[in-house]
Amino acid sequence: MDDTPSNTHHDAIAKLEAQLAELQAKQEKELQRLRRLLEVSLQLNSTLNLSVLLELIQQVATDLTNTEGSAVILIDEKNGNLYFEAATGEKRDELRRITVPIEGSIAGEVLRTGEPLIVPDASHDPRHYEVVDQILHFNTRNILAVPLMVRDQPIGALEVINKRDGEFNEEDLDTILTLACHAAVAITNARLFQQNDMVSEVVHELRTPMTSIIGYSKMLSLPGINEEMKNQFAETILREATRLGQMVNDFLEWTRLEAGRIRLEKEPVELNQIVKEVVEVILPQADERQISIEQEIPAEPIVVIGDRQRIKQIVLNLASNAVKYNREEGKVVLTLRTEENDALISVQDTGPGIPEESLPHLFERFYRVPGTEDVVRGSGLGLVIAKKLAEAHDGTIEVESQVGEGSTFIVRLPLANDAPSA
Ligand code: ADP
Repeated sequence: MDDTPSNTHHDAIAKLEAQLAELQAKQEKELQRLRRLLEVSLQLNSTLNLSVLLELIQQVATDLTNTEGSAVILIDEKNGNLYFEAATGEKRDELRRITVPIEGSIAGEVLRTGEPLIVPDASHDPRHYEVVDQILHFNTRNILAVPLMVRDQPIGALEVINKRDGEFNEEDLDTILTLACHAAVAITNARLFQQNDMVSEVVHELRTPMTSIIGYSKMLSLPGINEEMKNQFAETILREATRLGQMVNDFLEWTRLEAGRIRLEKEPVELNQIVKEVVEVILPQADERQISIEQEIPAEPIVVIGDRQRIKQIVLNLASNAVKYNREEGKVVLTLRTEENDALISVQDTGPGIPEESLPHLFERFYRVPGTEDVVRGSGLGLVIAKKLAEAHDGTIEVESQVGEGSTFIVRLPLANDAPSA
């Protein structure tokens, strides 16, 4: 007979032991998860570099939940739009900065409600933003999305995508919520630090002309300085002070653009006139170095909607670069034409050209092509400003360049009848 009291007793103990072991295993797993989260939180706080940080957040998010991918979607502080700041996958660069609709998207809903959301079947959920799948060649099955909050204010959303082993569970939710808390604070810190970093960068740039102004002013009163030297010093001081003034102006314009604090006075602007005016402004500089300027402007008026002064600024920045970075007796050609629904202004020069490895950095603040900084002085902001202004007009700037032959910068702006009315 099996069912003796001692056997039953034995079974009960075995069962209890099994339960205990299971409980211990569970606890062990939970402990491991908490330990990993703690590690992660320390790690997140150890970097202030935003892109490194975002990379880390995503990696940890997918690791901890055993998912195929993850995405960080942030609110643009300037215009309130939602955009992809980072995502895993091969085509992530194409995804970056894509705007996500606030109405009817998963991230949008998470932000509106401030609550996490699990979408078990994304392919049949109208809130799933399919553009993303198309770009990533990704097939989203399920999504867990949580808000990124700092002091009760949403700054974005964190999503993990495609659980490898089944459905998202309570534990995943808990993990991602905890991670999101740490991530939100770390992202905010990194953003603040970036701004500070920028200020020190600017101060550093301003210091160079300042140092020369102070140095040459001191030299003016040294014994044994003759008239010719004095004039030369005075000229240098004036040149550096002018440059300093220009840098300050450029910098102010740029910070306004960065902060989205620029108000465009929108009106119909005839580009034919703009090109002519710009040519007049750069003519004296060009003459000094026997650089010829040609303009190819059609007879009929080409009109865009925008801020007249700002559009002129775009063309002026490009044209003055075309003169500055040209050779003696070189040539600058400004061309105005239309292509489909766009107006195109191209500025072509016969300068040294821009090496291919420099092209991706050309529109970064303070970037100068190595070697040019000693020959020509500038603020390193001219192209950044031009690009931002073009973008503020729903336009673009492209560049084509051949080393040894020259460069062509092309501004593209939507034609007036095509642009949304102001
Ligand atoms: P900068 O004030 O230094 O001219 P920009 O933002 O206008 O700043 O230009 C950034 C850098 O791009 C320049 O320092 C120069 O190295 C390069 N660059 C700009 N325009 C041209 C050009 N037309 N030809 C060659 N290099 C150019």
